[in-house]
Amino acid sequence: MMLTRRRLLAAGLLLPLEGLAQTCGPLTLRQTEGPFFTPNSPLRASLVEPSSPGRRLVLAGRVLDGQCRPQPGALVDLWHADEKGAYDNQGYRYRGHLFADAQGRYRFETIVPARYTGRTPHYHVKVQPKGGRVLTTQLYFPGEPANRRDFLYRPELEMRMEGEAGLFDFVVA
Ligand code: FE
Repeated sequence: MMLTRRRLLAAGLLLPLEGLAQTCGPLTLRQTEGPFFTPNSPLRASLVEPSSPGRRLVLAGRVLDGQCRPQPGALVDLWHADEKGAYDNQGYRYRGHLFADAQGRYRFETIVPARYTGRTPHYHVKVQPKGGRVLTTQLYFPGEPANRRDFLYRPELEMRMEGEAGLFDFVVA
């Protein structure tokens, strides 16, 4: 029953009902930032490189607290590998951050990263509600065969794919 409600909430099909003790499901799982984080990424919602042959993807969703309250102004910092599985460790290709809007929504335009040695395709993110603690985690693609061989992969960190968009709501403490 709870699981069903969580799933509906996750799918955006069930609106929080006032008056009920509202929980937003488990807090988003934390994962290692890995070796390729670079601080001070540019403020930008599009990481698309004009010449990139990578498949375009919109990565979007909301930042919520454990009571499903939107977190306007939450920082969302995104970094990921390019279409060949390489990170830009000199500059800021495929690195950027933005702040969630008044409804706690965020939206990036980028590409689908390629896999690299030992890793299934994934996005790295840091999410920080205003005045709150940083959540560092990673997001995964549903149905990707390499997920099974990646020891960091967790099904609860899969995006929900809708056309050319990958959707994920972060639930932060
Ligand atoms: Fe990585």
